[in-house]
Amino acid sequence: MINIAIDGPSGAGKSTIARKVAEKLGFVYVDTGAMYRAIGVHVMRHNLPTDDARAVISVLYDAHIALAYQAGEQHILLNGEDVSKAIRLPEASMAASNVSAIPEVRAYLFDLQKNIANTTNCIMDGRDIGTVVLPDAQVKIFLTATAEERTRRRCLELEQKGTPVDYDTLLTEIIQRDYNDSHRAAAPLKKADDATEIDSTGLSIEEITDIIVKMAEAVL
Ligand code: C5P
Repeated sequence: MINIAIDGPSGAGKSTIARKVAEKLGFVYVDTGAMYRAIGVHVMRHNLPTDDARAVISVLYDAHIALAYQAGEQHILLNGEDVSKAIRLPEASMAASNVSAIPEVRAYLFDLQKNIANTTNCIMDGRDIGTVVLPDAQVKIFLTATAEERTRRRCLELEQKGTPVDYDTLLTEIIQRDYNDSHRAAAPLKKADDATEIDSTGLSIEEITDIIVKMAEAVL
């Protein structure tokens, strides 16, 4: 199987680019952030604190996560329910960041991610794909952009989805999430030694997509 790993901080453009690369290559796009978000939603629905490991683990194994594809779009199912919209609500972002620091949560989702990568040509995005989940991926990208640029993009995206948020609040949250993601003990956000770093500030989506597609075509 051919696997492409794409990691980087929130809002660097990973999902938009990964989706386009997948479409061009006929690969499956796997958004692992959506899986952490679904676990966060599951814990919130139990009215439990998402930063309390013991509470999270008490309901973790009741969360059955599956991916489904409709017209090429990834949908995420939590115990059979399509939660693709619920996981994008702002409170789900921090919940995902909290639960993702818990090793049991990472181990639980690791198996699911590994299974998909073993059976399909895919491009998988996340924080630890090139370092932990798919260390043997044939193509590894670490996508970055400044926190301000990432906030601007995410604001625009949420506005288009009809759920606008305040720029300063989001910037603070993105900086907080970056800090959490890169300082946690379990699989912190980190560029793999053999990953190619691309700074997306000032590059168009098409330009970055082309770079990755060319890298993948070289190993196909
Ligand atoms: O990518 P997205 O912003 O949807 O991810 C939500 C959160 O899930 C991130 O802030 C991060 O804490 C966590 N995550 C992770 N490992 C991944 C993907 C996401 O820890 N592979």
